[in-house]
Amino acid sequence: MSIKTSVIGFPRIGKNRELKFASEKFFKGDISEAELQKVAAEIRQYGWQKQKAAGIDFIPSNDFSFYDNVLDTAFLLNVIPERYSSLELSTLEKYFAAAHGYQGAKGDVKALPMKKWFNTNYHYIVPEIDDATDLKLVGKKPVEEFNEAKSAGIESVPTLIGAYTFLRLARYNGNKKAKDFAAAAVNAYAELAEKLATAGAKWISFAEPALVFDVTAEERELFKTIYAELLRKIGEKKNLKIALQSYFGDIRDVYQDVTALGFDAIGLDFVEGLKSLELLKTGFPKDTLLLAGVVNGKNIWRADYAQKNAILAEIKKYVAAENVVVGTSCSLLHVPYTVAAEQKLSADILKHFAFAEEKLVEIAELASADADALAKNKALFATARVQANAKVQAELAALTAADFERKPSRLDRREVQKAEFKLPAFPTTTIGSFPQTAEVRANRAAFRKGEISKEQYVAFNQKKIAECIKLQEEIGLDVIVHGEFERNDMVEYFGSKIDGFVFTQNAWVQSYGTRCVKPPVVWGDVSRSAPITVEWSVFAQSCTKKPVKGMLTGPVTILNWSFPREDISLKTQAQEIGLAIRDEVLDLEKNGIRIIQIDEAALREKLPLRKSDWHKEYLDWAIPAFRLVHAKVKPETQIHTHMCYSEFNDIVRDIDNMDADVITFEASRSDLKLLDALNDAKFETQVGPGVYDIHSPRVPSEQEIVDALHKIIAKVPQQNVWVNPDCGLKTRGETETTASLKNLVAAAKKLREEK
Ligand code: GLN
Ligand code: ZN
Repeated sequence: MSIKTSVIGFPRIGKNRELKFASEKFFKGDISEAELQKVAAEIRQYGWQKQKAAGIDFIPSNDFSFYDNVLDTAFLLNVIPERYSSLELSTLEKYFAAAHGYQGAKGDVKALPMKKWFNTNYHYIVPEIDDATDLKLVGKKPVEEFNEAKSAGIESVPTLIGAYTFLRLARYNGNKKAKDFAAAAVNAYAELAEKLATAGAKWISFAEPALVFDVTAEERELFKTIYAELLRKIGEKKNLKIALQSYFGDIRDVYQDVTALGFDAIGLDFVEGLKSLELLKTGFPKDTLLLAGVVNGKNIWRADYAQKNAILAEIKKYVAAENVVVGTSCSLLHVPYTVAAEQKLSADILKHFAFAEEKLVEIAELASADADALAKNKALFATARVQANAKVQAELAALTAADFERKPSRLDRREVQKAEFKLPAFPTTTIGSFPQTAEVRANRAAFRKGEISKEQYVAFNQKKIAECIKLQEEIGLDVIVHGEFERNDMVEYFGSKIDGFVFTQNAWVQSYGTRCVKPPVVWGDVSRSAPITVEWSVFAQSCTKKPVKGMLTGPVTILNWSFPREDISLKTQAQEIGLAIRDEVLDLEKNGIRIIQIDEAALREKLPLRKSDWHKEYLDWAIPAFRLVHAKVKPETQIHTHMCYSEFNDIVRDIDNMDADVITFEASRSDLKLLDALNDAKFETQVGPGVYDIHSPRVPSEQEIVDALHKIIAKVPQQNVWVNPDCGLKTRGETETTASLKNLVAAAKKLREEK
């Protein structure tokens, strides 16, 4: 007998991003809501049929979303702030207003905040709850989508974001807290369960990924209360089976509760769940299905069947074989649709890839233990996937502590650098990019398509650099940048210039709403065969006497925004990328670039979900990878880094440990609690907390920036303070950029006078 199979969720942007394009047309008013709905229905149908054809037993419904499932849940449960619900718009338009704001004839409202979804590159909309929120069932989406699947001949499992995760992720603006809404949530979910049962559902699945965070005693009580009550209510009424689905890690803090509550199925993650097997050994309830997430739902590599079967064999020691269901570790939302859409990469590479559709086949093959499939998979993994790069491996093996330790100490370097640069107090700079105007993008596109020669391409960029530098000198900035006109994206640019990465044509993954990303794939050993940015930086430095900052992306960010390899550790990959970027740093230095910024925009975002894992699973290799990149530079070379988030209060020691000379970060929209943390930690790195928000075209006044600086120097020793915007200026217009930077320089001058 073949064992059963289940899927948690399927991609929903459309195989060719149909939902993105249709939604954007709808936003512009080019197509009607009905036309948009039609595209959505086709996308759902496509996913269901693929899953059915692959023989998946538990096929989800309600995993589709026009924007985000958490926002869907808020609309399902009437958690809709007044400012959106009162707009005279259709429900779908109100939903989009909450997702990305609305500005038009019917009103002017900002979007709800957006946050990273656990440890993925997907973002969810944060529901907003206040004391007046009347949480109750108002939506029909799960029932409608269940019925839609049913009419297509598919008996689906409606999947819902569970009450605990929903309440845990929401933001509370009043005095009431999550527990004050638990009873209402239970009622709403019970009512929905009854409606689904009436529609014919035999199973429903509650997704509770928030159980993989650290769970406090109070949260644990909340979880138990919700499900004890909900299961009682559902059990009373209908013969409906309930699955509790976790993913993105293990549920060590609540495993005993989850197994005691009486769910009909429990979904555990055996890929990222470091302790899942160990937990299973403590016991698993009889007559309960284990949805075993063994195929990695987040990465794009083929599963190694031998390794997966070994895990399944281990699982079967603790769970009766007939109760084991094979599935993915998380929703397939986080991988692209299909390898079949890739026409450019060689078959030798593609045969190692498994995107969502290929993963369906893997699940089915693992469940059926098909001998042919096993043999084929064994052959695939028997041959070395990558041509190893012996030189890189030797370099890695030769690394010693000295490669991670810059000399002399930062405070000693500071004196050397003071003499070297003679910068004024409150030095001013920007984060790197200047407005990417249409002509800048057109120049890159024309070169890529072969419509202009390399000389023409370079000449245009040099002209832009020269103009950009002249502008910065006129504005009066102290440390100059070249403007980044040669790059579209800070990771793709470097990935495409160093060996070891491959790029797909169509492997899009949803980042948020209609925005999709196409991450590079780490394919082999990474190395740099030729300088990347040197010619641009050297040209830029030739245009000015002021110091020009070289501009690089750091190894942790490059790795975090790519699909990493699974055959070697993240630590090793970060070191390989680190060595490649180190070559670039040293070449820049050799060519007269005296300040080098190494951006680590994404360092903060891959912190493990559990605090106890932060160091051993992540920071212990991520911080050294950064240190590796710059440890060999001369004392007078000034190393900057930049981070997009200011939420690193808990890791300020680690950030200081990166041993950069200067760090700039986003701060203008934060509550500046970080400044207290910097103060408490006696943070040594000089800091440039962004003094104005670059996400908006608004021009900050000189006074506003002066005020921001006063707040900063109330907490940070003023000799450590730099003055800069929040982030790069590439998405801004030229006029507002110039005006804003002039005010920034004027504000810095004011502070110098006050001293
Ligand atoms: N140097 C990059 C820029 O200015 C940094 C971008 C980022 O932090 N996301 O665009
Ligand atoms: Zn940034």
